[in-house]
Amino acid sequence: MSIIIGFPRVGEHRELKKALEGFWAGNLTQSQLLRSAKELRAKHWSYQKNLEYVSVNDFSLYDNMLDLACALGAIPRRFRAYKDLELYFGMARGLKESVACEMTKWFNTNYHYVVPELSAHDDYKIDASKIILEYNEAKALGYRPKINLIGLFTFVALSKIIDGTDFDTIFTNLKQAYFQLLDELKKLDTTLTIQFEEPIFAKGTDERFYSKIKEVYDQIAAKGFKTIVVSYFEQSLEATDILCQTNIEGIGLDFLYGEKNLSSLELLAKSGKTLYAGIIDGRNIWVANLEKKLQFLEQISQKFPKDKIVLSTSCSLLHTPFSKDSETNMDKEILSWLSFAREKIQELELLESAFKNGINESIKQSWEQNKAINQNRKISPKINDKATQDRLLTPGKTQREVAFKDRIKLQHQELAYPILPTTTIGSFPQTPQLRALRQDFKKGQINSDIYEKGIQDYIKDCIAFQEEIGLDVLVHGEPERNDMVEYFGEQLKGFVFSQNGWVQSYGSRCVKPPIIFGDVSRPAPMTLKWATYAQSLTKKIVKGMLTGPVTILNWSFVRDDIQRSAVCKQIALGIADEIDDLQNAGIKIIQVDEAAFKEGYPLRKENVKTYEEWALLCFKTSTSVAKPSTQIHTHMCYSEFNDIIKTIEDLDADVISIETARSGNELLKIFAQVGYSHEVGPGVYDIHSPRIPTQEEIIKQIKLLLEVLPKEQLWINPDCGLKTRKWEEVKPSLKNLVQATKQIRDKA
Ligand code: GLN
Ligand code: ZN
Repeated sequence: MSIIIGFPRVGEHRELKKALEGFWAGNLTQSQLLRSAKELRAKHWSYQKNLEYVSVNDFSLYDNMLDLACALGAIPRRFRAYKDLELYFGMARGLKESVACEMTKWFNTNYHYVVPELSAHDDYKIDASKIILEYNEAKALGYRPKINLIGLFTFVALSKIIDGTDFDTIFTNLKQAYFQLLDELKKLDTTLTIQFEEPIFAKGTDERFYSKIKEVYDQIAAKGFKTIVVSYFEQSLEATDILCQTNIEGIGLDFLYGEKNLSSLELLAKSGKTLYAGIIDGRNIWVANLEKKLQFLEQISQKFPKDKIVLSTSCSLLHTPFSKDSETNMDKEILSWLSFAREKIQELELLESAFKNGINESIKQSWEQNKAINQNRKISPKINDKATQDRLLTPGKTQREVAFKDRIKLQHQELAYPILPTTTIGSFPQTPQLRALRQDFKKGQINSDIYEKGIQDYIKDCIAFQEEIGLDVLVHGEPERNDMVEYFGEQLKGFVFSQNGWVQSYGSRCVKPPIIFGDVSRPAPMTLKWATYAQSLTKKIVKGMLTGPVTILNWSFVRDDIQRSAVCKQIALGIADEIDDLQNAGIKIIQVDEAAFKEGYPLRKENVKTYEEWALLCFKTSTSVAKPSTQIHTHMCYSEFNDIIKTIEDLDADVISIETARSGNELLKIFAQVGYSHEVGPGVYDIHSPRIPTQEEIIKQIKLLLEVLPKEQLWINPDCGLKTRKWEEVKPSLKNLVQATKQIRDKA
């Protein structure tokens, strides 16, 4: 038997995205939207027909956490006047005066969920209609459904408690609502199968709720459901221990990202439970090595009754693209190494057959094919680049030559910027004309002369504008970039891009992560031409702009045949080469963006140190080529730095710019507490909103900054790149930023 934890919902050709955006724009009626959702579900179930169950309620018009909040009636007060889809999309996207609920990353994936807001004043009202509808649809089509439901513990732990109510009170109230929801579902069928998703268990014990796990799951099992509890993204030994003592039917474990789960097997066997063994990778895109997987299963079955092993994906396939069918342009050999959601279901079926009946005639051909693909992937010259491998083995620089306190003096002499220097984070507005220019060039509709002239003109305008308003350190504006990772991936060796490999990021938004299939190196300069062109236009300093190795890694699908840290190191060396070329061409400040440094953090505390060690090493490997007088900046888009502020300092970037204003100046407290030695530019206004900050506001913000950091250490900048904004917003905002800074400087 085999199952998948869940299937991607956006559709083969992003039909859901199109339907949603059509509906929001008023071009599609509600019933048209719902019809296309229904068609998607039916289509997606059809691929699951040979599995033990089809997954019901993995579908969502926006997000499953939001679905559950709505099913429980956990509606924030500001939305209570609304109902149905207006309410639902309102919570996700904001509605008139009511700001949207926050969104945040689903564990360490790039999927974002809508954060439920819970309060003691919640008046839970159950609405099981979505689940019932989808269940009945699957039944009517003749399928055997399992209902996917986010577990009570994961739901509560990921919610935000908004009015200081204690956890226990919230938990007790919510549990009651959750159980009422289950009672509604029970009316569908007294022997319903429910898959409770509890990835929160992968984070390890949590005092707030670990003592409640047994009771809750015993009570759920007592309702008569066939109860499966799955956790994923890491090992979940502590929770498994507890779950083994309950009366639930089965436990799902991730053996890919939580190898340690193996040590639960004996206990699990004794408990008599079914094991849902997560062995097909749900969040990466490589063809499985079925022979190895089969060996693994055989090894498990020495300790665990074979007839109680159900094969499963490691997590929901939500995190993988739909299918390889539409990849017509990719190199055929590389394509053969990939496996997207649909192909993963086929792998499961093949593996199950081999596990149950051996490798008989009916599967022999596919089995051999899988073997050949894996063999080819190992030895292909496309993957292996001897020069890169040798370079990795050669000890190289991992530290700047001169310590910060000395090199910063040199830099001040060399760069001669005033106190409270003003700058921006890199990108300027991406106008429709700019997008069209890049598209036309990509499609071959214009030649490179016209394209380059267009980009140069844009850079010229950016430089002129920055000079005119009096910014101190200028940028070229990044007009040549579609995306901060894609731009570099396209020029690095070892990367490939799919045509249709979309993965949902949130709501209707999808991303197409680059695929790192082989050894990475930088065959030629990537940004040099634009940076030097920009610098040639002005006497002021133009900051070179790169994306850092850790961010490139964390936003890509990474090869799984060598360590992530090794891949990252290869990227780091490529970035180092670029930094060296830039500084030799006269670029004096270089920013290495690490927007995704934080999101690579492991889920379990015990693994943090290892990640920090290699991530730091990679960043420093890329920046240590900088001469003492070359100033290295880095940028991070967030400010939840409480626990990692020392690591951030250890990056040893001369200047770091970060978000501050949006998160209510939380960060300033830490600076005040710990003391921070390097220079820093805490964003003085929020670029995520179209609002134009006034000079007074910015002055106020700068004064707050000056309360915690000396003026010699501070830079003044917005909190992120400006590419999503319009020029009408950017121009007055930056003028105000410069003017506000001047006023403060005059008084200082
Ligand atoms: N330099 C990039 C920009 O300005 C940084 C973007 C980011 O941090 N997300 O767009
Ligand atoms: Zn940013």
